[in-house]
Amino acid sequence: MLKTCANPWCRQPFEITEDDREFSEKISPVIAGKTIPIPPPDHCPDCRQQQRLSFRNERKLHKRTCDLTGETIISMYPAGAPFPVYSTAGWWSDKWDARDFGRDIDFSRPFFEQLAELCIKVPRLQNVGTSDMKKMNSEYVNFAGWNKNSYLIFDSDYNEDCSYSNVIKHSKDCIDCSYVSGSQLCHECVDCTDCYALDHCQRCGNCNTGIFLLSCTGCSDCAFSCNLVSKKYCLWNEQLTKDDYTRRLKQLMDESTMDDLMERFHQFSLAYPRKFCAVVQAEDSSGDYITNAQRCSTCFNIGEAQDLRYCDSVYRAKDCMDVSSFGEGIERVSNSGTIGHGSAGIHFCFDCVSSCADLLYCLQCHQTKNCFGCAGFRSGNYCILNKQYSKDEYETLIPKIVEHMRSTKEWGQYFPLSMSPFPYNETVAQEYFPLTKEEVLKRAWKWKDESDEIPKVDRIIPANQLPDSIDQIPDDILNWAIECDATKRPFRIMKQELHFYRQMHVPVPRLHPDERHRRRMALRNPRKLWKRECAKCHKSMATSYAPDRPEIVYCEECYLKEVY
Ligand SMILES: [Zn+2]
Ligand SMILES: [Zn+2]
Repeated sequence: MLKTCANPWCRQPFEITEDDREFSEKISPVIAGKTIPIPPPDHCPDCRQQQRLSFRNERKLHKRTCDLTGETIISMYPAGAPFPVYSTAGWWSDKWDARDFGRDIDFSRPFFEQLAELCIKVPRLQNVGTSDMKKMNSEYVNFAGWNKNSYLIFDSDYNEDCSYSNVIKHSKDCIDCSYVSGSQLCHECVDCTDCYALDHCQRCGNCNTGIFLLSCTGCSDCAFSCNLVSKKYCLWNEQLTKDDYTRRLKQLMDESTMDDLMERFHQFSLAYPRKFCAVVQAEDSSGDYITNAQRCSTCFNIGEAQDLRYCDSVYRAKDCMDVSSFGEGIERVSNSGTIGHGSAGIHFCFDCVSSCADLLYCLQCHQTKNCFGCAGFRSGNYCILNKQYSKDEYETLIPKIVEHMRSTKEWGQYFPLSMSPFPYNETVAQEYFPLTKEEVLKRAWKWKDESDEIPKVDRIIPANQLPDSIDQIPDDILNWAIECDATKRPFRIMKQELHFYRQMHVPVPRLHPDERHRRRMALRNPRKLWKRECAKCHKSMATSYAPDRPEIVYCEECYLKEVY
């Protein structure tokens, strides 16, 4: 069935296959033995993803007080948010109960209106993640857990001494990295696994001591090279002796600025073919950045997954459709974001984790089962709009509510964007579906202009006045603020950061951390597939490299033949 996206600004045609329909029926909720079918979507996959992501503010943190204890906390919600925000300890304490906010369903009014009224009464948890952030000296993190001495890392777990990064896992001493795991001493790296001491590298695995490498595997002491496997002392893909390598690399680094090197390497890399997509061991699957998956279609950033459709950033999951983040043993989840840790049977929800089961239209619930339209439960069962019912009452009421929502055209829709507590431009949606302020306001969504506090420092120095070599940077820089070259936003250097730059022998950054993040993310391919021909065998393929991009793109077979 070919449909047109219902969003008036989109109107993109999209297909719902017979297969999609059967799949959605298979994972639909069952109440009292009766399946309540999830209706086919009215919106295209992009608009669905955008809507889910607009509920996720990963990176914007605020200092404010906890509305329960009065202590100062770092929260994704600013002071003055229309709902109470509790510190992690306060939220998890027995000083309050989500059932206190319970209310009757009113069949004369739309459901979302009633849910939105409930949501501004129920206390919210300061951030998403584990409760030990303060103890672990990692207060400035979000959607993160088990991190030690880390600062401004997001969607990241099990790291130590890492900062200014996102989606990094099991790593140590890394700064300015995205999608990096099992690595140490890495700087400005993207999509690297099990690497050590790399700077400005992308799509590398098992590499050690390198600068400006692209798609290299098992290499050490290499620089400015692409598609190398198990090499040592290569510069510009040329095999050198150890002495020549050391001498020529030093000369190159001494006589060029970082910006020149970046541009030179980019031009150099265009002569080397790229693999059509970053997929490894993906059977019957389509999308990009996929590792070990079976029967996953139109998925991005997924791994250890079976039978997923239109999912992004989901690991260890099966039978899910339209889910954004994060997995760890989830099953039968649809139209939801931030669902994880053994949850199953979750539909139209946001941030429901820790063995939740059979939830519909719930937000920020933990260890909760059989609930509809609830918020802020730490353990709940048979509740609607936070009001407690018996099992029988619950099972009788749900079909009536669904019927009511069908009549108001709400059933099958995700939470309206007006329910997101965040300005659009501070959510992950802006990263993948960037809009201008005018476009956002035209759609009646929220926008907030960026404003930085003037830092209390000795002086603010424009980035272009900084010496290029780290050797010439005095300790005094810790008392200054730097004015970003691109955005003019001020930012500061921390002590552990300066130590890292000296250890890695890399220059002090000239761009604000947000701008660094934006540029790193721009190095990754978009969550979109195009038809394009393999540049070698001319086979047609679905690739995340748009046809007008300058890279040479090969199909899997041709790429492997070329590199190995
Ligand atoms: Zn659309
Ligand atoms: Zn080919």
